[in-house]
Amino acid sequence: MIEQTLVLIKPDGLKKSLTGNILTRLSETRLEIAGAKVVKVTRELAEKHYAHLKDKPFFEELIKYIMGELHERKKVMALVYHGEDAIKKVRQLCGETNPEKAAPDTIRGQYGRITTSGVYENVVHASANREEAEREIKLWFSPEELVYHIYPVKEIVIEKVKKLIWV
Ligand code: UDP
Ligand code: MG
Repeated sequence: MIEQTLVLIKPDGLKKSLTGNILTRLSETRLEIAGAKVVKVTRELAEKHYAHLKDKPFFEELIKYIMGELHERKKVMALVYHGEDAIKKVRQLCGETNPEKAAPDTIRGQYGRITTSGVYENVVHASANREEAEREIKLWFSPEELVYHIYPVKEIVIEKVKKLIWV
C-alpha cells in the first residue's frame, strides 16, 4: 500500500547538527521525499500537532520543546516521505518513543536523550498510523508543497489574498 508519512526533525536534531545524518538514515528506507521545508512552529501549530497529549503532565514542556524554546532553534524541518508501507518503515527506523528504550541502531536510539526534567528529546517525530499521518500531513503541508498526492485535492480560486512577494 502506497502511503505518506510526516517526519519532523525536532529542534534538538537541528541544534545538534543532525539534519544530514537523519536524512541519510531515512534514505535507508528507499522511500521518496514528497515535500520538505523548514517551519517556525507557532504555539497554535504545536498544540494542534500534539492535541491528543493535552492531558499529559509533560504537555507544556513538550510544546516548548517542539517550538524550539529549549534549544535556541525556533524551527523544525518538516518532510513527507512517500512509498510502500512508508508509515511503518519510518517508524521502525526512528525507534521507540523513549530514547533509552529505543534500539541503538534506530535514529532515536542513536541520537536521543532524556533531559533531567524528564522530556524525551528524541530528535525526530514520525506519524504512528494512517489516520495520524493524514491529519499531520494536512496540518503541516498544503497540497502545492507536495509533489505527489495520495489524498484528494481540488482547485479553488482565491481573490484578495495577502501574501509576501519579492520586491
Ligand atoms: N514524550 C515525553 N515523555 C513521555 C511521552 C512522550 O517527553 O512520557 C514526548 C516525546 O518527545 C514524544 C512526544 O512526546 O516523541 C509525543 O509522544 P507520543 O506518545 O506521540 O510518542 P511518539 O509518537 O513521538 O513516539
Ligand atoms: Mg505520536
